[in-house]
Amino acid sequence: MSLTAVRILLLGQSPSDAQSVREALADARVGSFIVEWEPRFADGLERLRGNEITAVLLDLSPPDCQGSAAFAEIRRVAPHVPVLVVGSPDDVVVRQAVACGAQDYIRRDRLDSYTLPRALARVIERQAAEEALHFEQQRADITLNSIGDAVLSTDLTNRVTYLNPVAERMTGWSRQDAFGRPLVDVFRIVDATTRQPTRNPMEEAIQLDRVAGLTPNCLLVGRDGLETAIEDSASPIHDRRGQVIGAVIVFKDVGEARAAAVQIVHLAQHDVLTDLPNRLLLNDRLTQAIALAQRHRHHLAVLFLDLDRFKHVNDSLGHVIGDALLQSVARRLMTCVRGSDTVSRQGGDEFLVLLSEIARADDAAASAQKIIAALVAPHEIAHHQLHITGTIGISVYPDDGRDAETLIKCADTAMYHAKERGRNRFQFFERDMHARAVERQWIEAGLHLALTRREFVLYYQPKVDLDTGMICGTEALLRWVHPERGLMSPKEFVPIAEDGGLMVPIGQWVLGEACRQARAWIDEGRRPLAMAVNISAVEFQDPGFLGHLRMVLRDSGLDARYLELELTESALIQHNGAPALVLQALKEMGVQVAIDDFGTGYSSLSYLRKLPVNVLKIDQSFVHEISAVPLGTSLVCAVISMGKSLGLRVVAEGVETKEQLAFLQAEGCAEGQGFYFSRPLVAGQFALLPETGLPVVWASAN
Ligand code: C2E
Ligand code: MG
Ligand code: MG
Repeated sequence: MSLTAVRILLLGQSPSDAQSVREALADARVGSFIVEWEPRFADGLERLRGNEITAVLLDLSPPDCQGSAAFAEIRRVAPHVPVLVVGSPDDVVVRQAVACGAQDYIRRDRLDSYTLPRALARVIERQAAEEALHFEQQRADITLNSIGDAVLSTDLTNRVTYLNPVAERMTGWSRQDAFGRPLVDVFRIVDATTRQPTRNPMEEAIQLDRVAGLTPNCLLVGRDGLETAIEDSASPIHDRRGQVIGAVIVFKDVGEARAAAVQIVHLAQHDVLTDLPNRLLLNDRLTQAIALAQRHRHHLAVLFLDLDRFKHVNDSLGHVIGDALLQSVARRLMTCVRGSDTVSRQGGDEFLVLLSEIARADDAAASAQKIIAALVAPHEIAHHQLHITGTIGISVYPDDGRDAETLIKCADTAMYHAKERGRNRFQFFERDMHARAVERQWIEAGLHLALTRREFVLYYQPKVDLDTGMICGTEALLRWVHPERGLMSPKEFVPIAEDGGLMVPIGQWVLGEACRQARAWIDEGRRPLAMAVNISAVEFQDPGFLGHLRMVLRDSGLDARYLELELTESALIQHNGAPALVLQALKEMGVQVAIDDFGTGYSSLSYLRKLPVNVLKIDQSFVHEISAVPLGTSLVCAVISMGKSLGLRVVAEGVETKEQLAFLQAEGCAEGQGFYFSRPLVAGQFALLPETGLPVVWASAN
């Protein structure tokens, strides 16, 4: 008992009893007591309402005290205050009071300093213990009824003794129905994969007297057959002596969490747009496939597919259509491979196909061919008929590499080479490709810096009027003055710039610089010459092309009629939108348009005829064949006469000899360009060419 004094209320009329109680408690060795005596029962009740009394010592003899009724009155006023009745168990009222909840009784002759304090201490402690127990029970009940976890308990014979409401809901068994039933009836669990009954953690908890861990991946089969994914654990219940008397199992619905986990794993391994395996999963599968191929000594192949000019679809038709096209491509790819193969999206417009088992390299070639053919058919997307082709690089295990990374790199390298050779084709990896790939990367890295470091220059090559020998125009030709390599030809870096997305800013610089130079020469008082500028397909398709051109003309102050844009046939044909509209806009601006390298493409004449162009430039390969091959000669003649009939100016490129010049003159070709007249020159040297023409050259030609 605590050291603070407890306040005892003595209810009884006998002053002598009161005296003996006071004396007994004053001498008490157990605890310290303050005694209040109320001879009148009504006053005693009043005192109890004050809430300060710890225990009541009740003498049931006073006249206004009606035995058990009096006791009931005390209970009502102070339900938590323990009562010790004074009297003998032979008294009916004493027995009644005890039956109605009085904690104990004490004989009148034992109100001494030994017995009384102990009796009081005992009733006070018992009351406190009962209160605490009740509180504990309440707390347990409320907790079990309100927590989200299901709780079920059993006795030693594995019979159900308790279920909380969540357990009732999940098992489908009410507490009453389940009570006393074998646990296996109420709590049926099976393995989610094998569907076999799984070990019940309850038995382990009871037998080994310890908390039994989670049963992984299990399903609870409810009374109605409904299944819930659960996680559970069981703990033994002990009696006061520490003996196991049963077990409690706690379980919860992890269906959503498990589904979310599955979803997260799927997301981490798949591409969101196409739902194909992503780079991670492909790497995994490739590594496994390599291990298998090694064990069974067979071959496998990696196909690296890159879509051709996909960027233009995205730029001209928008990302939504671009995405839909990628999804359509993904579906087509799936139809080209076996179930054991993997098609994955690496990102952007790049796909990797793993052919996990091939008999010979030819099988990979056949698959590649099949894919290329499957892509070609038009893709129907949002009322557009989209055409797309793909280029594939192939590497083979074990010839090209023995690990995933090397095989992918080799396939990638082979793909780049296939692109260089003209796209829409496939190519096996070859040993020396690596060196070329490294070179390519080196050039691309340098190109990123070239603009800011001002490493580009323009050379100018004259075009000559074949009638008069006068210089009638000039073509601006780009050069890269590489800090380590010196002068680099556009053939070495323009295709790389085009693929790397760098050609638009470089082209913008070329156009600006060429127009500025043309205008500067006019300002110096020289005779105006048409300035021809090469425009690559990517620039021509760039949505900002016309806007930038207008800005350049405005800023440089060059009259549009002195600007001529050279476009190749393929640039005109590949345009996804309407090339005619752009050409029409150029015509309205007064800018001239030439078809460059004419004869090397496969453009249909009837198509070109409809386009508003001004000049045809015969490709130098035809000019070089003049006199050497009769067919070459006749082609040149055909182009010249066709150009004339369409009212176009015809320019022969790559004129190198007197004979070629004479032939072109005889055929009535209007203009020529080539080393025979002049190599491309820097602006300062070009300005030194005689404005009146190249008379020396001319004299010797005639
Ligand atoms: P192109 O437009 O057909 O230019 C003519 C090319 O033939 C130039 O090569 C020129 O130096 C070369 N050439 C001129 N006369 C002769 C000759 O008599 N014999 C021989 N064998 N070659 C001759 P270059 O400067 O190396 O340019 C190659 C190509 O690069 C150009 O072919 C053009 O397609 C492209 N290019 C050049 N500058 C630019 C540019 O600023 N932008 C773009 N997009 N492409 C450019
Ligand atoms: Mg050109
Ligand atoms: Mg050309």
